[in-house]
Amino acid sequence: QAKVKGRAQICGYEPSMQTQMSWRLEMEQALRRALAEEQLSIACQPQLDERGEVIGGEALMRWEHPQRGWISPEVFIAIAEESDLITELETWMLDRCCALLARLPAEILPRLSVNISVRHFTQPGFVEGLTWVLGAHGIEPSRLTVELTESIMIDGLQDAIERMQALKQLGVQLALDDFGTGFSSLSYLKSLPLDELKIDRSFVSSLDTDSSDATIVETVLAMAQHLGIDVVAEGVENRAQRDFLLMRGCRLFQGFYFHRPMPLEDFERLLAERIGTDAG
Ligand code: C2E
Ligand code: MG
Ligand code: MG
Ligand code: MG
Repeated sequence: QAKVKGRAQICGYEPSMQTQMSWRLEMEQALRRALAEEQLSIACQPQLDERGEVIGGEALMRWEHPQRGWISPEVFIAIAEESDLITELETWMLDRCCALLARLPAEILPRLSVNISVRHFTQPGFVEGLTWVLGAHGIEPSRLTVELTESIMIDGLQDAIERMQALKQLGVQLALDDFGTGFSSLSYLKSLPLDELKIDRSFVSSLDTDSSDATIVETVLAMAQHLGIDVVAEGVENRAQRDFLLMRGCRLFQGFYFHRPMPLEDFERLLAERIGTDAG
């Protein structure tokens, strides 16, 4: 009886693995087509300072599959990261982001953040490619922030530091994204040439209900202040969370409480309206 059951389980397992693999393959091919056929777009989520002024935004990739509809970047980025497709997608992204920065003067859009995957970041030509695209659009490099995750340290801290220093040399800003979810030790932090830490939204979302998360956030803010690194709180969803963060010295905010990620046209309109209000 047990044997039969065991066999049935194995049989049930194998096809599902295969289904999963062919699904991934199908998605990867669809994603390549998406890039060629312009199904990809960019959403921007505003970032605000302590006065509530929009000081920039984070660019987030979007994909509308012709049959399946909108697919979460959590899903398609993971698929793209299994091959060098991620480099192609992010090269497209960097070009579009630099075009936006070139179109809007720094008074209207001071800065823009882009997410760069470790796989892309560790590619031999990454720094050269970034230098080229900034030059091609004539962008002041400090207006671009590159967001990296803690996984950049997986393949060796020394390599990561050298690459990050090359980016600093170029003049771009560096942020560590989803901070607190990885495995990086706090002692690494002081050896990285970082401008910004983004506290992961899992800590921010439970600020008002989980006292240990509140303590973690307080500690990160205090530590970043010591190290001279700015902190962006991600995933701020209500006023209580904003107030808590503000009271403990957080100066940069991003979250649904302020704005959701929006299509570029809406983002540009928001920026233009803000300037309009200032003038009037
Ligand atoms: P991320 O870089 O941490 O981006 C922030 C994510 O948090 C976005 O999800 C945003 O919509 C979401 N978010 C912001 N505020 C709130 C909030 O108040 N509440 C909640 N529940 N969520 C909030 P999104 O756009 O689905 O992107 C998910 C992830 O996909 C990003 O997380 C990033 O890791 C990845 N991603 C997106 N575009 C790219 C890209 O071009 N390259 C790479 N490597 N990753 C990307
Ligand atoms: Mg990010
Ligand atoms: Mg994040
Ligand atoms: Mg994330």
